Amino acid sequence: MARVYARSEHNISRALVSDNALKVLYRLRKENYQAYLVGGCVRDLLLGREPKDFDVVTDAHPEEIRAVFRNCRLIGRRFRLAHVHFGDQVVEVATFRALNNDDGDGDRQHGLDGRILRDNIYGTIEEDAWRRDFTVNALYYNIRDFSVVDFVGGMDDHKAGILRLIGDPEQRYREDPVRMLRAVRFAVKLGFTIHPACAEPIPRLAPLLEGIPSARLFDEVIKLLLSGYSVQTFEELRHFGLFGLLFPETEHCLGTESESYPLVFLAKALERTDERIQQNKRVAPFFLFAALLWEPVRTLANAKIRSGDNDVFAYQEAANEVLNRQVRSVAIPRAISLIMREVWALQPRLERTKGVRPFKLLGHPRFRAAYDFLVLRAETGEGAPELADWWTRFQSADEAQQRAMTREGSPRTGAPRPRSRKRGPRKPKTIHDA
Ligand code: ATP
Ligand code: MG
Repeated sequence: MARVYARSEHNISRALVSDNALKVLYRLRKENYQAYLVGGCVRDLLLGREPKDFDVVTDAHPEEIRAVFRNCRLIGRRFRLAHVHFGDQVVEVATFRALNNDDGDGDRQHGLDGRILRDNIYGTIEEDAWRRDFTVNALYYNIRDFSVVDFVGGMDDHKAGILRLIGDPEQRYREDPVRMLRAVRFAVKLGFTIHPACAEPIPRLAPLLEGIPSARLFDEVIKLLLSGYSVQTFEELRHFGLFGLLFPETEHCLGTESESYPLVFLAKALERTDERIQQNKRVAPFFLFAALLWEPVRTLANAKIRSGDNDVFAYQEAANEVLNRQVRSVAIPRAISLIMREVWALQPRLERTKGVRPFKLLGHPRFRAAYDFLVLRAETGEGAPELADWWTRFQSADEAQQRAMTREGSPRTGAPRPRSRKRGPRKPKTIHDA
């Protein structure tokens, strides 16, 4: 049975709902269909936050939705969804569905089970609620009377700040292991606590992520790390043993490190990303991924250099090997990995600060990214501060000064220095202290 919270019993303000979403809701209502907001937007509205998108659900079937809106396209083959377009804005409208058979993306197939399920099974609002993941994601805002309809105890959990799976946690994770990642993402983003019964199975079931297509995991990783809370998300993923399934080689380096450079470096890269997102600046996923895999690449390249390879070649080979293994768990699209390779390959080249080479490097399309990467390395104790500083000065110097600088070169050039315990104070072990 549903508990209905009347307009006076909750704090959802229509001022935070986009005009387009309201138009869709009212229009469906006018045509005598049911119309609700559901999912992340209701959860965020209850927190007084402006949702990033609005999901509408209705009892109208896709064809019926299309008949109501001129600016409407049906998408998805197995699960048909309606997209109602307003200029560059889209409001997604779904029909109530009955089964536990989607990942919220409408047309996604994942795993054998996903593929053999029957198509489009529409259901009642109550069935629609039970197939959702977390109780706080299954609240319905009714446009008819502005009430919130709750079949699963989501309102109480929301008030208590608890993230709880609907139904048996282990079964729900087995149905869709990505829910483990979603648990971490929402807990961090909302500042909620994962209910102990939902937290307990995660470390045990984490290996189920190996069965998830790597392209889907890439989408999830993007959401996890570009959430604006990536530092904490990273920590929680490690805490639950999930990070190692996404980035096995990075986890290996973090686990076996004798010093804390990789952890401090990664933490800093994530922190910078969060800052940029908070300031509404664009973030380039390639930089983050380049940072995430830097330690495996660097370690492997150094081994190759020690066994006699040329440094630029060693970095290229290391990049190939690490990326080839990485894409088995999280597929990194080529457009991104190409730039990652460039940023990595430029690191040894930035050590050559004599002659004409520095002038050529300045004109390289990835110079700026590679320089930022070098600065980050230097700031976190892994790269040479003198070298980063040389490049900083070189960029702002006039031509005569630049010529003089390239006669001398940076105080630190040549092959990467072997790691030594004597370099500077030991860094703290966890990001919390960093
Ligand atoms: P965000 O703010 O990140 O968009 P969201 O809750 O809207 O959060 P979506 O991935 O957009 O997340 O999914 C919309 C809704 O669809 C969820 O709130 C949930 O009710 C349902 N859903 C999404 N993914 C799953 C899943 N894997 N299992 C069950 N239900 C899901
Ligand atoms: Mg959403």
